[in-house]
Amino acid sequence: MLYNQVQDLKGTIRVYCRVRPFLQGQTNGQSTVDYIGENGNIMIVNPLKQGKDARKVFSFNKVFGPTISQEQIYVDTQSLVRSVLDGFNVCIFAYGQTGSGKTYTMSGPDLTTEQTWGVNYRALNDLFQISKERADFVKYEVGVQMIEIYNEQLNGLNVPDASWVPVSSTQDVLELMRTGQKNRAVGATALNERSSRSHSVLTIHVYGKELVSGSILKGCLHLVDLAGSERVDKSEAVGDRLKEAQHINKSLSALGDVISALAQKSAHIPYRNSKLTQVLQYSLGGQAKTLMFVHISPEVNSIGETVSTLKFAERIS
Ligand code: ADP
Ligand code: MG
Repeated sequence: MLYNQVQDLKGTIRVYCRVRPFLQGQTNGQSTVDYIGENGNIMIVNPLKQGKDARKVFSFNKVFGPTISQEQIYVDTQSLVRSVLDGFNVCIFAYGQTGSGKTYTMSGPDLTTEQTWGVNYRALNDLFQISKERADFVKYEVGVQMIEIYNEQLNGLNVPDASWVPVSSTQDVLELMRTGQKNRAVGATALNERSSRSHSVLTIHVYGKELVSGSILKGCLHLVDLAGSERVDKSEAVGDRLKEAQHINKSLSALGDVISALAQKSAHIPYRNSKLTQVLQYSLGGQAKTLMFVHISPEVNSIGETVSTLKFAERIS
């Protein structure tokens, strides 16, 4: 098959770091990102510290600075996405504090502008395009499923029972996503609030039959926009907010534990510790491929979250 050159990535964890630009209207331009190197290094400067403690270098597979376009991001994601058509399972995660650009990377700022489309739509277009190109050799069927995990409970978004829906174009998927948003039955502001406290998982399931040999391929792509990773001040949060925060903490650290156990080729992988890792169990580890986008905000007042995000990322890589 065409994309076998990416086979060497199977079972590996890749970590890409993306730095959000300053938002429009922000006057304080002091950035905590001191320097981005060629080889996946990023130097963070903490203005609250002095001397050698003020700077720290972190290393990842790649680092994307604030001017990198959605298109360029996809170039480095594409081979992983395409391997799904060869029967691989792939998970792509967006991690980071609320406001750091997770949804921007995965979905983009708005659906109407193709130029800023995120990984989700580019991946779908790519999968449909390549499956057409291969139509003489392989007959593909594609289905999608959209779920949300909120307070360790799983909700189906496209249809009430969270089942698969067959699709044949990106347009079909966009329509399902609109229905999904409506099914959440909350207003736009509440939706934004809620989506930062829940994990949303878009799964693209590919089933292919090779026409000559009759052999069957099955692949799965999970696109996961994680809940915001910010720590909630326990002395301030109460009631529902505290419960939400505890669930988020628990599931993000369970995800970190699973990925770092996989990275260390540990004999026991603790999938059972959260709903998220249970749902993704068969697409994390083994022959599967994982890509984690970790997002950071450049503002000085985010320095604490930035450092803990980068430490999380280093732990899993
Ligand atoms: P999150 O999903 O992590 O809470 P968002 O994706 O909603 O964060 O991003 C927060 C804000 O920053 C949004 O207004 C978004 O459009 C903007 N933004 C994020 N990343 C970028 C980027 N790379 N380029 C331009 N704007 C961005
Ligand atoms: Mg978001």
